[in-house]
Amino acid sequence: MKSLSSRGGTIEQVTAVVIGAGHMGLAASRCLNERSIDHVVLERGEIANSWRRERWDSLRLLTPNWLSRLPGYHYDGSDPDGYMTMREVIDFISRFAVLSSAPVRTHTTVTRVQRTDAGYDVATTNGNLRCRTIMIASGACNVPSVPALGKAVPPSIRCFTPFSYRNPNDLPEGGVLVVGASATGVQLADEIIRSGRPVTLSVGEHVRLPRTYRARDVLWWMDASGVWNQRYNDIDDLMRVRRLPSPQLIGTPERATLDLNALSSAGVEIVGRLSAVRDGRALFSGGLRNLFALADLKMNRLLGTFDEWARNHAREAEVGPAERFEPTRAPESSTLKLDLRNGEIRSIVWATGFRPDYSWLGLPVIDDKGHLRHDGGVVDAPGLYALGLPFLRRRKSTFISGAEDDARELVDHLADYLATPASRR
Ligand SMILES: Cc1cc2nc3c(=O)[nH]c(=O)nc-3n(C[C@H](O)[C@H](O)[C@H](O)COP(=O)(O)OP(=O)(O)OC[C@H]3O[C@@H](n4cnc5c(N)ncnc54)[C@H](O)[C@@H]3O)c2cc1C
Repeated sequence: MKSLSSRGGTIEQVTAVVIGAGHMGLAASRCLNERSIDHVVLERGEIANSWRRERWDSLRLLTPNWLSRLPGYHYDGSDPDGYMTMREVIDFISRFAVLSSAPVRTHTTVTRVQRTDAGYDVATTNGNLRCRTIMIASGACNVPSVPALGKAVPPSIRCFTPFSYRNPNDLPEGGVLVVGASATGVQLADEIIRSGRPVTLSVGEHVRLPRTYRARDVLWWMDASGVWNQRYNDIDDLMRVRRLPSPQLIGTPERATLDLNALSSAGVEIVGRLSAVRDGRALFSGGLRNLFALADLKMNRLLGTFDEWARNHAREAEVGPAERFEPTRAPESSTLKLDLRNGEIRSIVWATGFRPDYSWLGLPVIDDKGHLRHDGGVVDAPGLYALGLPFLRRRKSTFISGAEDDARELVDHLADYLATPASRR
């Protein structure tokens, strides 16, 4: 690492800068260390910051412990089939940082990245750096996405996002509308109804999965059958697949399935997609039967893929008998309108997804929808890479177990880039 003097003071020079010390940035750092590429990891908070600051209290990973693996490091505790609490995730990632001697600078926010002739200038709250390459590992879920129609919600309703919600005690007494039925929405609806508050869950397109299938965790099937490992360049409609919501899964000691049937049995009222908020009323789409039939069909197709894989790979003896699950029960008549002013609903939890924040990235690499333009993590600017985005290189790309393969391939690309003279790039 060198320092240059300039009119503004000293500028530190380093070959590579990794932005973010979540598991992705740390996996990249490990691969850079293995190749002796000098680098720093800049982190605005602490190691595993998102897991420390941006998750609700009861959250556990929905991926089983045996799937928690990073380059040269894996879960080795006594409960491989369990699901980590947030404290355990933070410890797991922090231990990895220590074991891989990651050069992390905490409390260092990247405020601007700009091109130079030889690479990039990185401005931070702790001084400036100049580097040849950058690995963006700043996360895919920096900001909760709340649809614009949320602005029309009457001010008497308290609104929460997965970042502001910590536990049901945060909510006022009374009814709660949870909008969104992906992993976050179903988990929060389940927790809130257990607190004794009436819950209405607004459901749009969703991915239904059982927690276990044929006596194995459903993610065992995803992993073993190769579905989890499908590559981005083998997928026809990549843009659509990258936008798919997360599966309806929860990690609990009981290994419970948390689908819409389980939630209706617990007393949650299921309504359609929130389509508008007008004159103090929430309006929901109809057509729940079709929506449910589609999710059931897709789940059964996936289970069929697993069955076929078990047959073709002589694994039948290792697993239980094939199963099919009760179709999602549609209510006789679903509510299409909910008055948000009569006091029945006192709060809304927006479980409508997350988006990355690239406000610090002063480069023309963001498309008009706010997505980074990249080909499997190779960003549309020389020497610039990204990790940890949905289906970046594989279906498992955003998950902890997806970090190693993506980080290795992108660090290989980065090393080739560094080794190629500028005149030949
Ligand atoms: C609610 C939720 C539940 C999840 N459950 C699971 C699960 O069960 N299993 C699983 O494998 N995955 C799970 N994930 C998915 C996945 O692990 C995360 O999206 C993951 O955080 C991605 O890792 P990352 O390292 O890319 O991002 P992050 O963990 O978000 O790390 C990014 C880091 O970059 C830092 N940063 C951001 N901007 C800047 C800046 N300008 N300057 C400096 N630092 C910056 C952040 O502080 C953060 O520490 C979950 C995600 C969410 C949101």
